[in-house]
Amino acid sequence: MSQAATPDIRQWQGTPVSAGVAHAPVHVLKDHFDEPDAEPIQPGDVERELERWHAALDLTHQEIEALQARVREEQGNDEADIFETHLLILQDNSVRKQVEKTVREKLVCVDAVYYRLMRRHMDALRGLSDSYLRERFVDIKDITQRVMRHLRGELLDHPMFEDPVIIVARDLTPSDTVQLDRSKVLGFAVETGSANSHAAIIARSLGLPAVVRLHNICEELHSGDVVLLDGEEGLLILNPDAATLAGYRSREEEAEQFEDALHIERHAAAVTTDGQPLEICANAEFVEEMKAIRDCGAAHVGLFRTEFLHLEDPEGSEDWLAEAYTAAVRAMHPGQVIFRTLDIGGDKLDAEMLAEAEPNPFLGWRGIRVSLGRPALFKRQLRAMLRAAAHGEVGIMFPMVSGVEEVRQARALLEECAAELRARGIEPPGVEIGAMIEIPSAALSADLIAAEVDFLSLGTNDLVQYTLAVDRLNERVAGLYQPTHPAILRLIAVTVEAARQAGIRACICGEMAADVEMTPLLIGLGLNELSVASGQVARVKHAVRRLHSGECRELAKTARRLASAPEVLELTRRKARQCYPELFE
Ligand code: PEP
Ligand code: MG
Repeated sequence: MSQAATPDIRQWQGTPVSAGVAHAPVHVLKDHFDEPDAEPIQPGDVERELERWHAALDLTHQEIEALQARVREEQGNDEADIFETHLLILQDNSVRKQVEKTVREKLVCVDAVYYRLMRRHMDALRGLSDSYLRERFVDIKDITQRVMRHLRGELLDHPMFEDPVIIVARDLTPSDTVQLDRSKVLGFAVETGSANSHAAIIARSLGLPAVVRLHNICEELHSGDVVLLDGEEGLLILNPDAATLAGYRSREEEAEQFEDALHIERHAAAVTTDGQPLEICANAEFVEEMKAIRDCGAAHVGLFRTEFLHLEDPEGSEDWLAEAYTAAVRAMHPGQVIFRTLDIGGDKLDAEMLAEAEPNPFLGWRGIRVSLGRPALFKRQLRAMLRAAAHGEVGIMFPMVSGVEEVRQARALLEECAAELRARGIEPPGVEIGAMIEIPSAALSADLIAAEVDFLSLGTNDLVQYTLAVDRLNERVAGLYQPTHPAILRLIAVTVEAARQAGIRACICGEMAADVEMTPLLIGLGLNELSVASGQVARVKHAVRRLHSGECRELAKTARRLASAPEVLELTRRKARQCYPELFE
């Protein structure tokens, strides 16, 4: 929805998912190839044009062969042979001849000629009922996109920026985010997504404003347009005038004063008014965040999402990983870093790994399932983590476990890794092992899992999605995504009780933990540890210091008798606003 405020200023309303304000030119990321214009060329340009195309074909060939070699090593010959079809499409003589002929005769740029020819092939296969032929459509599309990417280098998804920019995108996947030059990114304005998408989580981790559900914004804006992005109200303002900017500046100054007050008390312990201590930890995605985390008042890193490092270099060696993990561990010393093993899949699977798209990625090959299915990849990561443990306190936790068997299998592979390191003369130090509880079946068998691990960590972002059958990224059902649903309360309570019985700690590292309206409820449910984005640590500690744990337990008891999510939300919200109103002003 857009409206003209003055001739120059335009404003869009989206959904705010990460607070803060940025004012800068935008960079619009393309996620697809527009049909290339049929640019005319001179007869003298034909050979150069065809050379450019052959170079793109060669680069694509090398890319596919590298991918094939990797798949052969990790999955065997059958899987690797799938890429033979890709190579055949790439080498197809009739395509080569036809493209060369058309470029010579029609004197049109090769991008348009190649794209249109491949489009004709794709259109012919698209609606066929034969599944074999339908799959060829996907293969041709994949090859065409790769070649086009090499031909039109300027459309690569990881541009470098000279000056700071606000990223505008249709859909920002974790791999897009990883490939951006983050030192130059001031904020994200995205057409799709939700507060629980990984782009939103990353924005909060990096302390950058982000607004999602800005429909059609990629069409409306052009790279270089200057905007103001308001991550608090969910506004994007094109060409903001001096009065608008001045208004924002004075609002920012007020907010800064309160932030300064929180900052001063950030290292004080998080203890309730009746003396119950809680550990408030930080979630991290990038090694470069460690300095900010050291300084935010967090007790330790309760969740290090390792998939972002993986996406930076999926081929990264064990040495490279060990070095990166060690840097994180050293930076946090003496605090612990809990590394979560790869949770690729869902919205985080690198396309390279997934030979064909899954119909339901969140119910498919994700988290520990990928790790157990790719033991070489998993063990490389585990060995790197064990090596990093020589430099400080390390915890390792497994994501997306559905039951105890996966935990046992993962632990067995960890044992193998320890033995392999010993054989190399490296004695691996002890590490704490944890399981994430983010699938209802894991919560309901938390007692069995608790017997095998040193801690449980509730991943409520997924627990809510899987319990309520609400896709965490789907804006159409966002209203049904309710962390205070009675079923979620019961699963959290069951998990906390299982941990208590086993004498291990129960943590929560989903975004629910960072919401200070939830703090009374979470303390009341008996959680010992909350792990939140670094920017939220001081706020959550401030909240804890103003709550009485006995009262919170009473509140949780009442909450567990309530029938609906809004009632529970209202109860905990009222308590929060009564005990620390200053956090809501
Ligand atoms: C969660 O599911 O709550 C969680 C912390 O993991 P992620 O958001 O990375 O899926
Ligand atoms: Mg999760």
